[in-house]
Amino acid sequence: METRYDRKTPFPQRLAEGLAVLGNYYFNLYLVQGEQASALIEVGVSGVVDLVIGQLDALGVKPTFLVVTHPHSDHTTGLAALRERFPGALVVTAEAAEEFIKHPKAATALVEEDAHMTAFLETHGMIPGRTSVTEPPSLANSLIAREGDKMDLGGLTLHFLEVSGHSPGQLVVHVPEIDCLIASDSVGFRFPGRDVFPIFLTNYADYVATLDRLEGLKPSILGIAHQGPVLGEDAVRQAFQEARQRSVELRSRIVNDPRPAEELAPEVFAEFYKDELTMYTEENIMTCTRLIIRRARE
Ligand SMILES: [Zn+2]
Repeated sequence: METRYDRKTPFPQRLAEGLAVLGNYYFNLYLVQGEQASALIEVGVSGVVDLVIGQLDALGVKPTFLVVTHPHSDHTTGLAALRERFPGALVVTAEAAEEFIKHPKAATALVEEDAHMTAFLETHGMIPGRTSVTEPPSLANSLIAREGDKMDLGGLTLHFLEVSGHSPGQLVVHVPEIDCLIASDSVGFRFPGRDVFPIFLTNYADYVATLDRLEGLKPSILGIAHQGPVLGEDAVRQAFQEARQRSVELRSRIVNDPRPAEELAPEVFAEFYKDELTMYTEENIMTCTRLIIRRARE
């Protein structure tokens, strides 16, 4: 049986036995509930976290684990609010995440970005429950998940994969019992049915190798962090194919373009800075664009 995902259906939406997607259309968080423990994978942003807390309360769930998939602003700024509401929850993250988030440049950008995302949600009819953060969340004393680590929740197991290409400290969670792969931003930023922004911010070859590796797990539920999960084996295969094609195409175009990066960057920026991607600041996406051009030419 194939569960359908519809952006108009209210959240949370149940995707499989023990799996639900929380949040809203723009920010998707995944709740994995075993018989003994539960994990919230993704922690959202200031503008969505109170909605998520309300959804967890309505489900009667106090998560045992809060999994930070990677240290980008849109995957971390909801953490402090979740910790406050669920003080017993353990934060799980990759080893490199704490150092990245503590870097002064990253910290400043993260605060600005969180404010922009709160404003974006407001203009899209979603009322944030709180103001945006003034400092990055602390990832000190987190449980560090490493490649191959397994966490038994009772009937459902989280298998952690350390992947690379998009961000430092990047985790993907596989739940084999329900054929689910929570891939966060590893598959790119999707404009469903229209386009995908390839976000090989740290390394192009690693990014494509990650796509190949994740597709090889043949999930039938692909939990991505924005614009909803992809459901069904065929749709998931197609999502990987689109992600790979757009990455290969964009990279070869950049490599074959003789212009210097500063001339090319505004053109690439204009190609992608549209629709859902405007949840981020122009400065952020321009920085991403420059990184993508650099990674393509490395
Ligand atoms: Zn990211």
